[in-house]
Amino acid sequence: MASLQALRGTRDILPSESQIWQLLEQTARQILSQAAVQEIRTPIFEQTSLFERGIGEATDVVGKEMYSFRDRGDRSLTLRPEGTAGTVRAYIEHGLASQGGVQRLWYCGPMFRYERPQAGRQRQFHQLGLELLGTADARADAEAIALATQILQALGLKNLRLDLNSVGDASDRAAYRQALVDYLTPYAADLDPDSRDRLERNPLRILDSKDERTQAIVAEAPSLHDYLSERSRQLFEQVQQLLTNLGIDYRLEPKLVRGLDYYTHTAFEIISSDLGAQATVCGGGRYDGLVSQLGGPETPAVGWAMGLERLVLLLQQRQAVPAATLDFYLVSRGAIAEAQALVLAQKLRLSGFAVELDLSSSAFGKQFKRADRSGAIACLVLGDAEAEQGQVNLKWLQTGEQQTLDQNELLHNPDRWRSQLQAARAVSSVEVAPL
Ligand code: ATP
Ligand code: MG
Repeated sequence: MASLQALRGTRDILPSESQIWQLLEQTARQILSQAAVQEIRTPIFEQTSLFERGIGEATDVVGKEMYSFRDRGDRSLTLRPEGTAGTVRAYIEHGLASQGGVQRLWYCGPMFRYERPQAGRQRQFHQLGLELLGTADARADAEAIALATQILQALGLKNLRLDLNSVGDASDRAAYRQALVDYLTPYAADLDPDSRDRLERNPLRILDSKDERTQAIVAEAPSLHDYLSERSRQLFEQVQQLLTNLGIDYRLEPKLVRGLDYYTHTAFEIISSDLGAQATVCGGGRYDGLVSQLGGPETPAVGWAMGLERLVLLLQQRQAVPAATLDFYLVSRGAIAEAQALVLAQKLRLSGFAVELDLSSSAFGKQFKRADRSGAIACLVLGDAEAEQGQVNLKWLQTGEQQTLDQNELLHNPDRWRSQLQAARAVSSVEVAPL
């Protein structure tokens, strides 16, 4: 029988990598909760029609990339390709709008798109997303961008740039769309096949075609900025001013679009110059039309999503592996000692220490070697002799210093030992690349 393997475009995240994922998730969670953003968890599959209506049938995601299937009840379901549609469905379904004020939500989890897998592009990938629902205020756009920037900075990421644009409102875009189609139609034969397809269905998307010949044609196309209404222009200027106040650099990118009708005004991407082809780590913008499009009340909103695989690639390049967090590696040998070690490990954990219990019963020498590799700050050694006395031998792994003490002393003065462990960890973590 052929050996079983993870499917193309999916990956296992092994313990050697999961530490980076946890660092990422913890950093984001802390920053978002400081800003009073609360987590929402929605199902991984939804009715297909939610995404058709919520993302738009003319998009690549809906047209080519969805994992859709019929379940045993013959319903058409889809593994979510992104997080906004489900979040907005939940917002409407549970009447979050009627709670008044701004709903500040984040989500994190796997998304599914049938794409050609390559570095930074998978079929199951992970997004962290933010949605601020119920405000048209330019400060919300700026705050959303500021939070994305803060997360990326807290992770120590460099060489990022923020591209910013305004796609105006629906009527600005209708006028522009016509101008664009008029300009492009004579060149139709020279466009790449995807763009030719989009000429009728979704012409704005042609602006971000990656095809060189199409790009050359598009370079001379009319600019969306010339079609913004006075109000749209003002909003855009406000957002720029607020970003400047926040000390956030940006680059105006008139060709940056999120070519759907309910996307409005602010559109942005954060791009890394350390990632090669799949360089966008965060994309977002305002979507004032989406909630009503999905059957809810008129609700202006702004949000973004970050691709976590791409952030993990960046963190790996920086070798930003978090320092080990294990306090004690507990070694024991002998029938009495081994039984007692299990209890001691559990008690130490209840006192707040991180403890790995060696379960091998192998010779002390072999257990010590594993203690050295474990990343623990100290090794606790329990033989039958210590066990009978209620004692334990403690060896600081950095210095080799040893002491024998009553087990109760560890358990009754956890704070004292914690500060000693912390001091020892501070010395050992100097070798780890700072974040
Ligand atoms: P791209 O141009 O890279 O296909 P997109 O416009 O499809 O991106 P969004 O739908 O805006 O991307 O999703 C936001 C972020 O999620 C992207 O900037 C990227 O970091 C990440 N992302 C999107 N698709 C994938 C994928 N297939 N694998 C890994 N990350 C992805
Ligand atoms: Mg894509």
